[in-house]
Amino acid sequence: MHSYDYIIIGQGISGTVLSWQLVQAGQRVLVYDDGRPGTASRTAAGIINPVSGRRFELAWLYDIIYPEAERCYRAMEKELGITCFHERDIWSVWPSAQMQEAFEREVSAQPAGYMFRPAAPRYEGLLHQPHGAGIIKGANVQLNHLLPAWRAWLQHRGLLREERFDISVLEMKEGSVQYKDASARAVIFCEGVESPANPYFTGLRFLPNKGEVLLVEIPGLNATDIIKKSITLVPQNGHTWWAGATFSWDYADALPGAAARASLENSLQQLLRIPYTVKDHIAAVRPSGMDRRPFVGMHPRFPQLGIFNGMGSKGCSLAPWAAGQFCRYLLQGEPLRPEIDIKRYFNALR
Ligand SMILES: Cc1cc2nc3c(=O)[nH]c(=O)nc-3n(C[C@H](O)[C@H](O)[C@H](O)COP(=O)(O)OP(=O)(O)OC[C@H]3O[C@@H](n4cnc5c(N)ncnc54)[C@H](O)[C@@H]3O)c2cc1C
Repeated sequence: MHSYDYIIIGQGISGTVLSWQLVQAGQRVLVYDDGRPGTASRTAAGIINPVSGRRFELAWLYDIIYPEAERCYRAMEKELGITCFHERDIWSVWPSAQMQEAFEREVSAQPAGYMFRPAAPRYEGLLHQPHGAGIIKGANVQLNHLLPAWRAWLQHRGLLREERFDISVLEMKEGSVQYKDASARAVIFCEGVESPANPYFTGLRFLPNKGEVLLVEIPGLNATDIIKKSITLVPQNGHTWWAGATFSWDYADALPGAAARASLENSLQQLLRIPYTVKDHIAAVRPSGMDRRPFVGMHPRFPQLGIFNGMGSKGCSLAPWAAGQFCRYLLQGEPLRPEIDIKRYFNALR
């Protein structure tokens, strides 16, 4: 029998930063991840954008969340010997005069904020930008660097099991759990869109939504900015760009579809004045909650079972901060922030 403090189910961005922070706090973790393709973390571009919507509203708790995210990713880069966190300008192309006005209003309202009028035009002749563009100070996390590097770190130490965790085999003990040859104080589920089917957490109000993305070659566009209009372009290697994403609550499956492809291509044509070639079309489902806040905490009747999920469309910015909250709750008994605490659903969890 092998003994751990926590067994973590899932190594998307949630399971990654939670297991990392638990290890930093001296805890023994065992991570299960089946490595399936098409998960949210294996599809996302990892954009961190401080503002959203037509009014460029500042994201929830952004001033607290962003520094924690930066600290966490920088520390992981150092430990793992990788580069994965990049501060980037988001070149925000205004699709209409109203958006231009909204941007100008916000720049004036927050003079030392995250939004700036550009000192000089960019991408002239390359993009359709009749209403102009502004700069938003953002970032992006290269999940395709971070997740494999953390996986390799765990693997090297025998702390990763590359298999499906079967909840029907989990045995509950007094104050602990046992799963096959492993025992632990608790299991924490970071299963992404699988959690709504977890029999212990069906009471949480998930509202998953599907996103589709194109990977495109744009030979005439070589830049380090994120470029955003009705579609967002994130630089990958060379002239390859991540171009996404759609957003749909109404979907039959998690596969790439023709309607989304047409919509993405239409948005690309409205942005680009130069040729592009589609190299791939991918899709995944975002594990979102109805109240758009993470699900964090231990089950009220089974305190050996926890959940860390519901990151929605902001996993890269929210997960490090929420993992910090969870670690302090687990290890020092500090209360969780009520907006993320699953206590808000306790009457629905049995
Ligand atoms: C198209 C798209 C674009 C996005 N863009 C961004 C973006 O730019 N910025 C941003 O911050 N967020 C973005 N998101 C959202 C972001 O991807 C999610 O918030 C985040 O990935 C959720 O991570 P997670 O670890 O909770 O879940 P997941 O990524 O779904 O990870 C769950 C993991 O658990 C594993 N697993 C599940 N069940 C089991 C089991 N029983 N046994 C073993 N393993 C199991 C899966 O294999 C998976 O690896 C985007 C999402 C999509 C779909």
